[in-house]
Amino acid sequence: MEVNVVQILAAMNHTTINVSRYCAVVAALIIYTFSCYYTSTAQTNPNFNVQLRMDYAAAERSVALYQDEYINTRSLAELRGNRVAAATTATIDNEQTQLNELARYFDSLWYHQIIQNDIYHLESSRKNVAAIHELLQEMQRRNFSMRVAATVEQIFPSDAAIDVSIPVYVVALGHENVDAYVRRIIWHDNIPQFTGENTGELTIIINLAHAANYGPSVASRYESILNIVAHEVFHAAFSAYKEHSSSWQSFYKHHREPIDALLDLTQNEGIAYYLSFEKRGNVPPERNSIIADAFTRFNNNATELLSEALTSNRANELLRKANLSGASDNYGAIAGMIMAQQIDMHLGRAALIQTLSTDPYDFINKYSDVACFDDLLPKIAKKILEKIK
Ligand SMILES: [Zn+2]
Repeated sequence: MEVNVVQILAAMNHTTINVSRYCAVVAALIIYTFSCYYTSTAQTNPNFNVQLRMDYAAAERSVALYQDEYINTRSLAELRGNRVAAATTATIDNEQTQLNELARYFDSLWYHQIIQNDIYHLESSRKNVAAIHELLQEMQRRNFSMRVAATVEQIFPSDAAIDVSIPVYVVALGHENVDAYVRRIIWHDNIPQFTGENTGELTIIINLAHAANYGPSVASRYESILNIVAHEVFHAAFSAYKEHSSSWQSFYKHHREPIDALLDLTQNEGIAYYLSFEKRGNVPPERNSIIADAFTRFNNNATELLSEALTSNRANELLRKANLSGASDNYGAIAGMIMAQQIDMHLGRAALIQTLSTDPYDFINKYSDVACFDDLLPKIAKKILEKIK
């Protein structure tokens, strides 16, 4: 799901944002020694229109500044990407910043003055400018937007009609722990207003200054950013798909209990994580304690959501913890990813795609069918199966 301010602040307790939430899941799976690969197929469905409106201006001109070229610092600070990056950094750091403060930071950097409290990490970005520049050129050269769209398209039914256009701002400054994130924004002239889930335009921001530190090579850094963005774009495309799907509209009309929200999240996050990694492997999941623990929590919490004594506060807490950063507060996402993986491996890609066009009950049931025939796979609790049969 999207990262809002509350999630950003909550995530900081776990040292990173969105991306690290993602990394927590990576860590859970590294033990698997899965081979990750990407299908780099081009888009084939003419009705699948997912477009990323790439805006590289902030990153390009920041790189020029870091290379000591003359840049108008005020107009650099006023670029939309930098406006969003600066405001998000201030929110995370709990700083009260003025609108034109970033321009003053740029000026100090340009004059090589010592920057006190370098919240945007400009000095370290300048030191790292060669790697940032290399990654920026890689993104532009390898048609990032089309690769993301093709990666997401392969998980949708071949007749899915989806129209999504998402602005992506590529920047080269910001909080040290944040490399890609989602905000919802309404622009007032050039000033961003950050909004909640159902208003504002879904917007992705990529901070190359942080992403340039990833992995051993520019190719692996490019893939890392692609993973993160594909995850978020999948959510956007899935939500657009649901709006025009009669089975989803019927599901949302008739299934409004807290357990339904958990199962919906489990499928949505599970497939998003699975898609962005494409893992294959044979190691039985229960040998990994993180995955076994995620399923235990999933079963216990889902059962509690079905209890008559459930309060709305407790329901909110259980749902919130299903997809936070940190392995222990990520049970829905991790369990969902393993479910998606097992459905794909044992029933085939068509079966996994079919769950997208039906509902979360189908997704959980399909996994349960697979788990029935494999003693080593974690099982779904009986109470949940009774609820969704
Ligand atoms: Zn997600």
